[in-house]
This record gives sequence, C-alpha cells and structure tokens, in this order.
Amino acid sequence: MIDQVLLDILACPVCKGEVKQEENQVMCCQCGRKYLIKEGIPVMLVEEEEK
Ligand SMILES: [Zn+2]
Repeated sequence: MIDQVLLDILACPVCKGEVKQEENQVMCCQCGRKYLIKEGIPVMLVEEEEK
C-alpha cells in the first residue's frame, strides 16, 4: 500500500524510531505509537494518534 522507500524515510516524530506499515496504519517499532494513513499518505502527527 505504501511505498517501501517512503516507509524507510519516515520516522516516528516522538522517538525518531523506525516505522512499519500495519494494515491501514503506520506503527512505530520503538514506542508503538500508531499513525493514520490517509489517501495513501501517512499522517505523522502526534495529534492524530489513537488513544
Ligand atoms: Zn516512536
């Protein structure tokens, strides 16, 4: 769904950790925060996180 190159560039805005795609979200491998993907573009905003 998301370009792997894009995923490689992206980093968690909170801990700068690597992120991976998980269904319709992007998840940080380090802190576990999840970010929504809207229209194929990950929304890397802390405000958009669930919980
Ligand atoms: Zn993180």
